[in-house]
Order: sequence, then structure tokens, then C-alpha cells
Amino acid sequence: MDYRGVRMIENTAIDKDKLDKLAQLAVYTGVGLQKGQNLLLTGPVESLPLVRLIAKHAYKAGAGLVTPLFSDADVTLSRYKYAEDHSFDVAADWLYKGMGDAFDNNTARMAIAGDDPMLLSEMDPEKVARANKANSIAYKPARERITQFDINWNILSWPGLSWAKRMFPDMEPLEAQTRLSEAIFLASRVVEDDPVQAWKEHNSALREKTDWLNARNFKDLHFTGPGTDLKVGLADDHEWMGGASQAQNGVICNPNIPSEEVFTTPHYLRVEGHVSSTKPLSHQGSFIDEIRVEFKEGAIVDAKASKGEKIFNKVLESDDGARRLGEVALVPDSSPISQSGLLFYNTLFDENAACHIALGQCYSKCFKSKKNLSQEEIRSRGGNSSMIHIDWMIGSKEIDIDGVSFNGEIIPVFRKGEWCD
Ligand code: ZN
Ligand code: ZN
Repeated sequence: MDYRGVRMIENTAIDKDKLDKLAQLAVYTGVGLQKGQNLLLTGPVESLPLVRLIAKHAYKAGAGLVTPLFSDADVTLSRYKYAEDHSFDVAADWLYKGMGDAFDNNTARMAIAGDDPMLLSEMDPEKVARANKANSIAYKPARERITQFDINWNILSWPGLSWAKRMFPDMEPLEAQTRLSEAIFLASRVVEDDPVQAWKEHNSALREKTDWLNARNFKDLHFTGPGTDLKVGLADDHEWMGGASQAQNGVICNPNIPSEEVFTTPHYLRVEGHVSSTKPLSHQGSFIDEIRVEFKEGAIVDAKASKGEKIFNKVLESDDGARRLGEVALVPDSSPISQSGLLFYNTLFDENAACHIALGQCYSKCFKSKKNLSQEEIRSRGGNSSMIHIDWMIGSKEIDIDGVSFNGEIIPVFRKGEWCD
């Protein structure tokens, strides 16, 4: 049985009311679509039922033009199986150029994730790496409009059948999909009567944390726990963000549904010590587990992993910034995603289950004087630059975090995986 095909929503046990609420939440709270604003939407073919609901709510909210772009797992696999070798250094430049043009014209961006996270795990890693690199380069100008937060954007999830089977291998495909849809609905807070209101409250709770951290203005964060003793220097002028935030075009949006993290920019030269991952990392179809790395003057000088060590080291060689940090994020162990005990094999969910760091590109919006900082201004404040951005989890209920202030004062931030308050 091929369970990657498109199914009409009627043939699944996914709760249609909750799916409709998710679509509505994505339009109003997620992307914060403005009257007359165009929307560019990407997702797997399989997510068509959700795409249709999003389009309905977008047009009801006064959208200009909603343009969906679909991908398909089988089409992707055919490429890796049958395409000519030289084709793996090529990307659809014209498409990314068009996306860049759309963003320059204030088009909002929404992405639906839902593919099997291990889709490419049996394909040639060399070809996967080359194709990823070609894509990264072609997408860079358009992606920068997103990382610079020029426009309002949002990413959310569809419970894809292959993804669901990956998470619940012992269940029948449709049962697994239903189970995954429930987990997505719970994490996205659409189980509440009024999800839009629930997100307002959630956003203000996250705001309290970012306000506190911004007022403290720590020089470093010191993580300690099993296999971890890591000092993460924070960038000069760094700002903590989380939940709802305002894009440069003035629109307030929630870039991620779900989202439990508060995050900021580390200093690319000031990270010292060693750290162990606390959850497996699923990276573009590959599985990397039990990562242990050593940092010196901001760069990873030694990297080991019990699984996927070769791939991980290849990732670190992507470019000069790939072995330095672009993000540090705090998430309490009591977050609903952590409490669900599920491993989603998907960063959008798993990064919201634990404190994490990200290799590569920093978010240029995480600076207090953030108005259109140039690459040089970001670099001079300590922001990292790279074509990759890969989050991996270093938090657990055994992790303590101290904030170190500029006068050497040490303030407890987390104890045993929870906020100190
Ligand atoms: Zn993050
Ligand atoms: Zn990240």
C-alpha cells in the first residue's frame, strides 16, 4: 500500500473542526495576514486539505492572491534514484528568484511541513549534500528576507502519513496519522475553545521571559549537566525574542506554530567548553544521535556522534560559519511538547521540547538596534553568518543554566530544566 498518496480529508480520521481551527490560527495568529496582502504557501501535495482551509480563511481575511506551491515525496525520491549525476549541483534558481521578488513586494510566506523526516535516509548522502548545497545557494537571497524578518511568515505542520508511520511504527497508517494529528493539535493549542485567545496568553507569558532576560543583559549563559559544561557568550546588543514578534514590514506574526522557545544570538567567537545533545537530530533525511562537541573560541574543534558522525562532520564543513553558533534558545522541560514524551523527528516540534543551540546563520532581528543591520554591523556585534541553520537539543530536566553578568555576578536562570523565576 502506498500511503504517501493524496487522500481527501473525508477518508481520514483527522478531526475536521480542529484542522479548520489550525488553518484559521495560521492565517490570523501565525502569519498575521493583512488585508490585500498576497500569500505564498508551500507544502507537500498530501497537505492539500489543510492548504484548502488556509486559502479559505486567507481570502475571508481579505488576502490579495494566495499562491500554493506543492512538493511530492515520490517526485523527490525519483530524482535521487534516476537523475544524471551532474544535475545534483543545480537548483531551481528561477523559482527562488521569484520568491525573492514576491517577498520584496510584501508577499507573506507560509510553509507547511509534513514529509517523512527520514525521506532521504536511504539515498546517496553525497548527492543529498550536493543538492542541499545548490538549493541553499540559490535560496540564499530569498531566505535572507526571511532571516532578516523583512516580511511576516509562519511555518506549521500537516500530519503526513509517512511522518506519522515514522513516529508510530506499530500502528496502522491511518491510526498513526490520527495520533500525529492529535499531537500537532495539542502542541499548536488548537484543542482550546479559542486558539487565537490561547495564543495571546501564551505570547504574553513568553514576553515576560524575554523582558526579564533583556533587562538582565547577560554577558554569558553557562550550561551544566551530564556531559555538558558550556559557556555561551551572547552577542553585543543581543535581544531575546520569542512568540509573537513584529516583522520589518510592521506586521506582528508568530513565525512558528507551535513555539515554546525564547532565543537570541550568541557571539560567534565566545563559546567555550563541551556539550552533549539530549535528543536525536533529524537533519534533511538523516539521523544524528548522541552528539558530543568541544568548542574553542566559538568554533567546534571536535565533533563526535554515536550515529551519523560522518554526516554531522560534513555539515560542519558546509562553510566558515557552519561550526559556530547562530542561536541559543531556552525551553523549560515542562513544555507541552516535552511532556508529550514524543520524538517528532522534526525540528519545529523537537526544538520546542528542550533548550537548544543552532549551528550557522544567526537571526539578524535578535539585536536591540535591529533596524536593517548590514552584514558588517551584524558581524561586528558578534553575529554568525552561514548558509546553514541547524538546531539541536541540549536541554533536559538535568540541565542547570546560570546567567553571567558583565560585572561577574552569577544569576540562576534554569534549575533542573525549569525557569527559576
Ligand atoms: Zn530555536
Ligand atoms: Zn533555530
